[in-house]
Amino acid sequence: MFDKILIANRGEIALRVIRAAREMGIKTVAVHSTADADAMHVRMADESVCIGPAPGSQSYLSIPAIISACEITGAQAIHPGYGFLSENANFVQIVQDHGLTFIGPTADHIRVMGDKITAKDTMIALGVPCVPGSDGGVPDLETAKKIGDEIGYPVIIKATAGGGGKGMKVAETTADMESAFRTARAEGKSNFGNDEVYIEKYLTTPRHIEIQVFGDGKGKAVHLGERDCSLQRRHQKVFEEAPGPSISPEERAKIGKLCADAVARINYIGAGTIEFLYENGEFYFIEMNTRLQVEHPVTEAIFGVDLVREQIRVAEGLPMSFGQDDLEINGHSIEVRINAEKLPNFSPCPGKIKTFHAPGGLGVRMDSALYDGYSIPPYYDSLIGKLIVHGRDRPEALARLNRALGELIVDGVDTTVPLFHALLEDGDIHSGDYNIHWLEHWLEAKFGD
Ligand code: ADP
Repeated sequence: MFDKILIANRGEIALRVIRAAREMGIKTVAVHSTADADAMHVRMADESVCIGPAPGSQSYLSIPAIISACEITGAQAIHPGYGFLSENANFVQIVQDHGLTFIGPTADHIRVMGDKITAKDTMIALGVPCVPGSDGGVPDLETAKKIGDEIGYPVIIKATAGGGGKGMKVAETTADMESAFRTARAEGKSNFGNDEVYIEKYLTTPRHIEIQVFGDGKGKAVHLGERDCSLQRRHQKVFEEAPGPSISPEERAKIGKLCADAVARINYIGAGTIEFLYENGEFYFIEMNTRLQVEHPVTEAIFGVDLVREQIRVAEGLPMSFGQDDLEINGHSIEVRINAEKLPNFSPCPGKIKTFHAPGGLGVRMDSALYDGYSIPPYYDSLIGKLIVHGRDRPEALARLNRALGELIVDGVDTTVPLFHALLEDGDIHSGDYNIHWLEHWLEAKFGD
């Protein structure tokens, strides 16, 4: 059993992990940059270590600093949260080489799934359906045009190393191919150091449906249903819900089993998310995330499980505390991402919080590291909180979201809260009738000129 774990992250996700560890009687070590000396995760952990200057590249991404912090404090394991080093196979290897435990999957699994082309090949081999497209990497423009003609426009050119919505470009026709191909390659190169790209059919009305899986690393795995994360801006999720309003119990059981069986066969350990586009009743795999997702709380709400606790358990070599038959959906849950951003352009808006008041009451969870007087540093992601609600059904969850948003006070900086107030007045949100392009169109109609 671990006595002490280190959390190689900041913000709400660091608090999330500290909370789970504390309930398990495990001590926690926070790491922080000089810009985060006053951050909530530092206050809440049992111990803390400053690991470098403000920029993430010199602190939260500094592998030597994080390993040293473990050695100084005697932490036996590292939880990476999401982002930063959570999907860095090299980091996982170094952690293990130092006799420490990485709370997450193996370096090999991260490597395979971190490259979208290898991930797709692996999933095809495991019987998971994928978006039609090129067979692996596309070496040059000429080949790209040939493939575009074969699969039919529109197509999307994707950097194999891409992530966070970067390195993806749509070509509507052959005429767009040249610039889309070059831009996707250049973005892959500059953001991820890899200019390999591949091509997929661009689906015009899909929903983003992702399946939560969990494995014990010994050939046993379960699925925890789906999350619908179709409401996106620039390929970034803003509103997530579970279960998906368009998915039937039969579809869930079928795709869920396919995913659980696939990860069981590769002896996957810990939490993972298999992302699909869903159109006309068909699922098409796009990528797998080998970590905890930002939106994991909606799954926790409807299944009544603690995914972080479970991650820590299997990392310790313990069996999972639930099997597939123990997992039953209870009600409906929605999460909205509160970002320090100014509408309508969603430009980052760091600054000092004058007043913060979190909503409460039945079925309301607020995961946030804000407090009165806190200054949001300009160096990191603009996510400052997640409001998660749970109701007996979707209408109750929506009503609860509306009520909770009304109670929330974040005074001092602009946030995405007004976006959610406006969305809750839209009929399509209430009927659940939206796809991955819906929000962009809605924003254009509301704020475009
Ligand atoms: P990232 O790793 O950057 O998150 P993904 O491959 O997961 O990239 O895709 C992110 C989003 O981009 C999807 O949720 C979807 O909105 C859009 N997208 C990706 N592939 C396609 C496709 N073939 N057709 C239409 N939209 C797509």
